Amino acid sequence: MMPGVQAAVLYEANTPLEIEEVSLEGPRDDEVLVRVTATGACHSDYHVMDGTWNGAGYPLPMILGHEAAGIVEKIGADVRTTQPGDHVILSFAPNCGHCRMCTIGRPNLCSRMVAPPGRFPDGTRRHRKGDTELNAFGRGMSSFAEYSVVHESAAIPIDRDVPMTVAALMGCAVMTGVGAVLNTASVEPGSSVAVFATGGVGLSVVQGAVLANASQIIAVDLLDNKLDYASSFGATHTVNASRQNAVEAIRELTDGMGVDYAFDAIGDARVSRSCYDAVRRGGTAVVVGMAPTGTEIPIPATIAGEEKVVKGCFYGSTRPAVDFKRLVSFYKRGALKLDGMITRTYTLETINDAFDALARGDNARGVITPTE
Ligand SMILES: [Zn+2]
Ligand SMILES: [Zn+2]
Repeated sequence: MMPGVQAAVLYEANTPLEIEEVSLEGPRDDEVLVRVTATGACHSDYHVMDGTWNGAGYPLPMILGHEAAGIVEKIGADVRTTQPGDHVILSFAPNCGHCRMCTIGRPNLCSRMVAPPGRFPDGTRRHRKGDTELNAFGRGMSSFAEYSVVHESAAIPIDRDVPMTVAALMGCAVMTGVGAVLNTASVEPGSSVAVFATGGVGLSVVQGAVLANASQIIAVDLLDNKLDYASSFGATHTVNASRQNAVEAIRELTDGMGVDYAFDAIGDARVSRSCYDAVRRGGTAVVVGMAPTGTEIPIPATIAGEEKVVKGCFYGSTRPAVDFKRLVSFYKRGALKLDGMITRTYTLETINDAFDALARGDNARGVITPTE
């Protein structure tokens, strides 16, 4: 049991995170203790904070945070793939390595390491404030704290010369967006691509489309400053959906056809439907953002005649041990512009400012540095 860990705790939706000392239990035999050096403010955290993702799936009080990098402090007796001192990117999809999904190469869909709401994959809760057990987020990651305990498969060692703030972004937004393009959709060179919502994930879809050599990259958002970010990362066209019909604009830009691929990077049923409408016959709409449980996407039953594909994308279809290292190599040769994605950094004490900025759409990404 590790006492005196500073953490940001959400007690109630629509109230500020409370910065306080908690205790953290672990690591167990197959786990590692990581000092969190950088952790991003992501929309998925905000969905819990503003009550969009309310209900049984996200019990409060909870320590949020699921996009993070840090330095390994301590390893359990059975850990083989990392050691103290390693710089690691954390994954919010630990995997067992042995189940059918892991074995066929889809470890992001591992059937054994699924955690009950608010728990670690082994079903426990490890954070306490006095006698109160606190719920975890990201299958135990809860990186809005000085320390995290994660399963061995969720701590991927990387080169030490990668800035920690950049490494943190690779843990969610970049892996999700770039992976959606390269892994989930397998976008071919010369394709036309549309991206709806250009926050951290959407900007990473834009960068993934650049990596895939897409010919047209059309960014759609409601805010001009976010479209400016999209242009700076390689979008060839921008559409402000508050001023024009995005689907019509995309058709005009593609000779009336529609794009080959459209990505919903926010997770909203109406946006997902717009992606369906924006792709050409036989095109692929990829739903990347996580929508609230219980919502449905209306799809025309004439889909047979259109041969359109609607595809879900969880975490960029990541194979963390392979893909985090691949992202690092892209970054190191200048093919992923990640320094420019970090608009501001915050301390744990000012974490609420990071989420106020996220709510306003100010930042490409805000990153909190709990122990730097
Ligand atoms: Zn995220
Ligand atoms: Zn598995």
